[in-house]
Order: sequence, then structure tokens, then C-alpha cells
Amino acid sequence: MSVARFWRKIPQRYNLIGTKCETCGRHFFPPRTFCPDCRRNGKIVDHKFAGKGTVVTYTIIHAANEQFEALTPYVLAIIQLDEGPRMTTQIVCRPDEVKIGMRVKSVFRRIATDGESGIIHYGTKFMPVE
Ligand SMILES: [Zn+2]
Repeated sequence: MSVARFWRKIPQRYNLIGTKCETCGRHFFPPRTFCPDCRRNGKIVDHKFAGKGTVVTYTIIHAANEQFEALTPYVLAIIQLDEGPRMTTQIVCRPDEVKIGMRVKSVFRRIATDGESGIIHYGTKFMPVE
């Protein structure tokens, strides 16, 4: 991802902002500007997600590209937000702690350091709910 593209996505990454269709109540993350169910009758508004969800499936990453190397092994999971949308995210926990169905909440953490430029990328990750 280019730096410009990354910074455009910052508000989403910081605050888990997606959209919601007021007509049918469906939520979208990443944000969509069009509801596939309601089509022209859909009324799309911004929605800030509560940041709570459940692990649907996960994988343990043992080898990663240079940016993520320092983090391995780490847990990459698909989680379902309580509002409905699914997203792929890193779970901040030990690989042996993660379980399908585990409750998680969003936290704001460093995602990666770009070695060459020294740019540190921050974003939303998830951690187990105690
Ligand atoms: Zn709709």
C-alpha cells in the first residue's frame, strides 16, 4: 500500500468506522456506500463500531514478510463484529490462547514498522476480553 493510500485510510483504521444502511440495519466494514439489499432505497450513514466481536477462525503466522517478522509467531483471525461484518485482524495474545468463539475487543496498536523509511503504522488489532 502506498503511503498516500495508507493515510487516506487512517480514520477507518483508528476508529473502526464503517457504514450502516438505515433502511435495513445492515452494517458494512470496510465502509460501503451502497446497500446490496436495499439498493436505491438504502440510506447509508457512517457508523462507528463498538469494537467487540467473536473469533470465527484463525491461523498462526510463523513466517511473515520483513515488516511483520519481529512479531512472529502471531495470530491472524477472521472475527465477526457484534454488528455483523467480518474482518481479518491480528489478535494480541499467545498463539495457544486463541480459540474459535473467543470474545475479543479492539485495541489500538502498532501494526508494522516500514524498515526503509522508519514509518510506523498504527491501527486496530483485537485482544481477548477478560
Ligand atoms: Zn439496506
